[in-house]
Amino acid sequence: MKELIDKIYKGTNKEFLKLLDKRITKDEKTFIITANPETLTYAQTDKEINKMLNDSSNIIIPDGIAIVKAANMLGINIKERITGFDVCEHLLKYASNNKKKVYLFGSKQDVINGMKNVISSKYKGIDLVGTENGYVKDKDKVFENIIKLKPDIVMVALGIPNQEKLIYKYLNKFKKGVFIGVGGSFDVISGSKKRAPKLFIKLNLEWLYRIVTEPKRLKRFYNNNIKFMLKVKKEK
Ligand code: UDP
Repeated sequence: MKELIDKIYKGTNKEFLKLLDKRITKDEKTFIITANPETLTYAQTDKEINKMLNDSSNIIIPDGIAIVKAANMLGINIKERITGFDVCEHLLKYASNNKKKVYLFGSKQDVINGMKNVISSKYKGIDLVGTENGYVKDKDKVFENIIKLKPDIVMVALGIPNQEKLIYKYLNKFKKGVFIGVGGSFDVISGSKKRAPKLFIKLNLEWLYRIVTEPKRLKRFYNNNIKFMLKVKKEK
């Protein structure tokens, strides 16, 4: 685990967003992988996930607080959480200000419709080159279409690890673009779901809010987070 955790981005939110803007300006292809215990646990058994995390051209960000805590336990200085959600909002803002081409893939169709409304009211400058909900059968076909559209930013909301696997499968077919798996971010930005109240986020208890509001997450939480922390403790 330590070796993988050491590959995660160690700067602050602010530094990361600055780096990201610079890369978009230069058309540098960038795949952002949001790391949480689930991602790193998958890497133990899933070859593709393992390969993409070890591919130094990708940037891994510490999305979950458990990653920051685990790193610190192992003596790795990861400063703070950098959430996929915040990066997603930043990218929308950046795209709006700089008239960038964006493609949104994933989540339910009504959520996608909500995203279109949000974009036309809050992020006007965005050139939305296409959208597709995440429940279409042939997801490869969607990506083949995205390649032709040459977007600057591609956000994929299919949940971990499918969103990352799909991006990585097609990444070498793109010459430029920022790619990120954003999980449930569209659900929140479109107004279909609420993110945890600010106080929960500030106290690093966003995970608790998600379990309380969606109890079916408890099993997933136990299987990933608790086991992950026990593993890290052992490594320490
Ligand atoms: N989703 C989808 N297609 C699927 C399964 C999930 O589009 O086959 C979407 C789902 O509607 C939601 C997102 O993927 O918008 C996953 O959200 P979740 O909060 O579970 O993400 P995570 O916890 O993995 O960040």
